[in-house]
Amino acid sequence: MHKLITKFSPLLLLLAVLAALAAPGRAQEVTMVLRLQRDFGYGDGSGRIQGLFSMNVTAPADVEKVIFQIDGQSIGEDASFPFKLQFNTDNYTPGLHTLSAVGKLPDGVEIASNEIQAQFLSPEESRNATGSIIIPLLGTIFGLMILSFAFTMISIRRKPRLPLGTPRNYGFMGGTICPKCGRPYALHFLKINLLVGRLDICPHCGKWGIVHPLPLQTLRDAEAAELDWDKDGKGQVKEMSEEEKLRKDLDDSRFQ
Ligand SMILES: [Zn+2]
Repeated sequence: MHKLITKFSPLLLLLAVLAALAAPGRAQEVTMVLRLQRDFGYGDGSGRIQGLFSMNVTAPADVEKVIFQIDGQSIGEDASFPFKLQFNTDNYTPGLHTLSAVGKLPDGVEIASNEIQAQFLSPEESRNATGSIIIPLLGTIFGLMILSFAFTMISIRRKPRLPLGTPRNYGFMGGTICPKCGRPYALHFLKINLLVGRLDICPHCGKWGIVHPLPLQTLRDAEAAELDWDKDGKGQVKEMSEEEKLRKDLDDSRFQ
């Protein structure tokens, strides 16, 4: 027995040494991870920030309290999970700042978090930075919309009136029937997509309407239907009353 212990004692010693070495290693694994979260404001992803931000800390379970720091100065603490503190960059001088956090263990030991470098922008710098992205973008969008309106209006003005019943080429955009005059037309390439449909302009009556692409057969039927219209009206469709529509539907169904 004594021999056995003697034989194993170098191994036990080795284990003891390993355990001693591993202990500080475990302590180092117990880290505090600090993250910066934008609540309301500007952040360009490269550390340039302005507005309302939060420091979030993921801490080991035995951390009782987290102290949040900017440039090593405490700006507040949180003693409950999730450890978090909101701050406004406008309360600090613009420029480079270091954000960090310290976790306090029950025995008074402090654990430091990683540090985050952030360039606090003044509200004016933030506005300029935001504007430099958004204003050209909005300008481009509005410019395209105005151009598309202008081209559509010009093409409608120049186009001679299409005789009733003329077969139309609806192109790859497809066609639709104007809800105002009832004549079919090819959808314009530049139209305004809305949630409820597309806002497009009718080349026949020049009125805007919310339309959907329709099957080709429906469009051909609508072309043919134009021939039945009152020629005296020169293509101007009389608005059908609800009663007339109902009667027409009944008449149509009778022939089926
Ligand atoms: Zn129309």
